[in-house]
Amino acid sequence: TPSTPSTPSTPTGLPEYIPHWIGGEEVPGHDGRTFDVSDPVSNTPYAQAAAGGPPEIDRAVAAAEAAFPGWAALSHRERARILYRTADAVEARHEQLAQFESHDTGLPIAQARGQARRAAENFRYFADVVVALGEEAFRRGGDQFSYVVRTPAGVAGLITPWNTPFMLESWKLAPALAAGCTVVLKPAEWTPLSASLWPEILTEAGVPAGVVNIVHGTGEEAGQALVDHPGVPLLSFTGSTVTGRHIVRSSAQHLKTLSMELGGKSPVVVFADADLEAALDSVVFGVFSLNGERCTAGSRVLVERPVYEEFTRRLAERAERVRVGPPADPATEVGALVHPEHYARVLDYVDIGRKEARLVAGGTRPAHLAEGNYLQPTVFADVARDARIFQEEIFGPVVAVAPFDDEAEAVELANATQYGLAAYVWTSDIKRGHRVAHAVESGMVWINSHNVRDLRTPFGGVKASGLGREGGAHSIDFYTESKIVHVAL
Ligand code: NAD
Repeated sequence: TPSTPSTPSTPTGLPEYIPHWIGGEEVPGHDGRTFDVSDPVSNTPYAQAAAGGPPEIDRAVAAAEAAFPGWAALSHRERARILYRTADAVEARHEQLAQFESHDTGLPIAQARGQARRAAENFRYFADVVVALGEEAFRRGGDQFSYVVRTPAGVAGLITPWNTPFMLESWKLAPALAAGCTVVLKPAEWTPLSASLWPEILTEAGVPAGVVNIVHGTGEEAGQALVDHPGVPLLSFTGSTVTGRHIVRSSAQHLKTLSMELGGKSPVVVFADADLEAALDSVVFGVFSLNGERCTAGSRVLVERPVYEEFTRRLAERAERVRVGPPADPATEVGALVHPEHYARVLDYVDIGRKEARLVAGGTRPAHLAEGNYLQPTVFADVARDARIFQEEIFGPVVAVAPFDDEAEAVELANATQYGLAAYVWTSDIKRGHRVAHAVESGMVWINSHNVRDLRTPFGGVKASGLGREGGAHSIDFYTESKIVHVAL
């Protein structure tokens, strides 16, 4: 039952209860178990969600197993048609989706409004990929012919984080379904609201019952049960490196196929010959948009010595001007951090930073916002490479700035963390741009560019930032098994 909005900024149609969705039916938590769902402005519960564990995961895997043969047997074109309809159903709800996402996660509404389009594009794109995809064939002289048969891998376990939750769920659902897998999705427990829209979206699009199953709950109970389930041969996980390591260890007993999209501490390398205005725009966008809760955030800015002081001063000025405010306000650029626990963690890093480095902007709650998980965008300068705020992922609107003297030192500093997700290089020397891009240890590099995605390209990280790649045909590779058939001619 939709509740009555308590303030003008509360979206209409908020559910009071978010059930699981298993085999095409709404399912309550076993023994009536629930957990609180809060918003990050009032930090008070506005809904209850079903709390899942092994019983729901067993039931969801059974539903996905039952639906698998029928879904896998559809032609690529038939599945693609359903995925196109899913994209349309997502876009038709774009305003509701943006309002739900902003309310639940604290993302500025203006930034949440892009999420439906990105999610819809994931469905259209992966529908196109499978329709266009061929299978390989090889001929060994005149005596042997070999060809690859690609089959969907089975029931895929999808585990997702709380930052841009709906979009990241679509990033896994779309290729898994396109490839012919059925799925069990375990959304992040801090942000289950937008996932409550999937059942009506998928039903409207004609996705058969049991093809997608959603079990809410904590990572320790619902997530772990999915990781441990022998009927789930592959897991696509996006989340922190600590949880990722744990999942890799747990899933070893069943030798599951894994895709791990983990944390980052991505460097932005700014050379003195760069277009500094463009680099500043990009740094501000890269670390403060989406509240800084972005895996590819450029959270370490390395600046060549001759422009270091000027760049740091201008970055601090920009940070002070960023509009922090209620997520529902269209003028807001940084909203409320997702959860009081995460907020406390980010504030701890600010305290650590004050001892380790020079605070040049932010560091406090904005004076006009007495309640809610708000932090003024924060810039630390002169950050040493062994400082915790240089090494550890903060996942909030906090950036560490450090100087370098030459290209070799820039690369060394860029590579001086356990992470290797993304990197950004700013220079007007095109050869140097490519050299640095090749030398940096990361899965993705942007030269003189914002973080703009092309869905055809591989997405993922090296070192502690992940295992494997998704995106384009890489995703389809992940969700399928390849068998080679050799024929004597
Ligand atoms: P998290 O690791 O705490 O949780 C992610 C998901 O894992 C949640 O659904 C959680 O319930 C589940 N989980 C927790 N313990 C589990 C267990 N034992 N077994 C199974 N599932 C378990 O991460 P988070 O705090 O939700 O998300 C933030 C992190 O995600 C950051 O580190 C960020 O960099 C990373 N991230 C990475 C990418 C990427 O593409 N590389 C994208 C977005 C976010």
